Amino acid sequence: MNPANLLEFDLDGLAAFCEQLGEKRFRATQLFRWIHQKGARDFAQMSDLAKSLRDKLSGRAEIRALPVLSEHVSGDGTVKWLFDVGSGNAIETVFIPEDDRGTLCISSQAGCAVGCRFCSTGHQGFSRNLQTGEILAQLWYAEHSLRKRLNTSERVITNVVMMGMGEPLQNYSALVPALRVMLDDHGYGLSRRRVAVSTSGVVPMIDRLREDCPVALAVSLHAPNDPLRDELVPLNRKYPIAELLQACLRYLEAAPRDFITFEYCMLEGVNDTPELAVELVRLLRGKVACKLNLIPFNPFPASGLKRSSNARVQAFAKVLIDAGIVTTVRKTRGDDIDAACGQLAGEVQDRTNAKNRMTRAPITVHRRGLEGSAAMARHTETKQ
Ligand code: SAH
Ligand code: SF4
Repeated sequence: MNPANLLEFDLDGLAAFCEQLGEKRFRATQLFRWIHQKGARDFAQMSDLAKSLRDKLSGRAEIRALPVLSEHVSGDGTVKWLFDVGSGNAIETVFIPEDDRGTLCISSQAGCAVGCRFCSTGHQGFSRNLQTGEILAQLWYAEHSLRKRLNTSERVITNVVMMGMGEPLQNYSALVPALRVMLDDHGYGLSRRRVAVSTSGVVPMIDRLREDCPVALAVSLHAPNDPLRDELVPLNRKYPIAELLQACLRYLEAAPRDFITFEYCMLEGVNDTPELAVELVRLLRGKVACKLNLIPFNPFPASGLKRSSNARVQAFAKVLIDAGIVTTVRKTRGDDIDAACGQLAGEVQDRTNAKNRMTRAPITVHRRGLEGSAAMARHTETKQ
């Protein structure tokens, strides 16, 4: 029998697993803390764990890390890892350091089935859902490798955003236990406000998330009307804007934050005109408590789309701000290592193809300009 991957379990799941081995729940809590808080992989290292349990675990269980295909460090301190998830699939995880926080952007699927026009993951198509253990392996690895690198025992990752590859709400059953581990005081102890799920608008699952595990919610809107959103986010044909906004209102009743973040990717000549900004104001103002996050489009060749000019973005933002809607323009991070939103798939495809040609993919570690924590901390987001 294959050993169980302990990264698959939230604390209740781990307690049930330990019970099967004839162990008490508090042993599961100890084990859970070793794994997630201390980053241990080796049971022999878990010194306060009963020897009898350590013996039972070895051979029957493991902490299954994902093989690292590459690690790139950007001049601005952003770190991007490419992990191998088997069968020629690779996923990406990005760490974004800022003055007052460290955010990890996590993938939920290999590829994505939603197929948004402006997203390179969408263009790549859907390969498979990640398991809970694969979602958590990204956080586990990033947190503990960054601590080593920065020579600290303090928490490095303070925020998690499910904004990497994939649509998290189309991988719901794997997502929720992973979120629970992020929130658990014996796990990563992140507050619900600091864990965000970003969705293209899977309405029924927004309702379930509200019931099962309410965390901060970001909704990828990208258009103020159905005909345009139908084109950009094909899922809109199934769950149109009015239904999506109703789901947002229901979510707000249980949400840890009293607003929804709407993401809006700025595409030149497509969704960036002042008229559409006015339409967006009419759609949202006084209806849904929200913040708008304008994302400059990160171009990739197959999209045939262009990034809106700064002037366009600023003019669009001004309409929203003048109407009293809190609006930020996302600063692009990790541009030099293709870690920006929607660029995640390009290199993955290359890598994946390369990997298929080789029996073993090389591990490359690039360091550009990262000298300890000072460089990583130097960044400010453009806020308005
Ligand atoms: N599937 C989820 C989460 C992953 S995408 C979602 O769509 O929300 C995370 C964010 O990156 C989304 O807001 C998405 O619209 C944005 N994005 C995707 N491709 C992009 C690109 N090429 N440039 C800028 N933002 C992009
Ligand atoms: Fe999938 Fe999100 Fe990309 Fe759309 S933007 S294709 S939902 S990952």
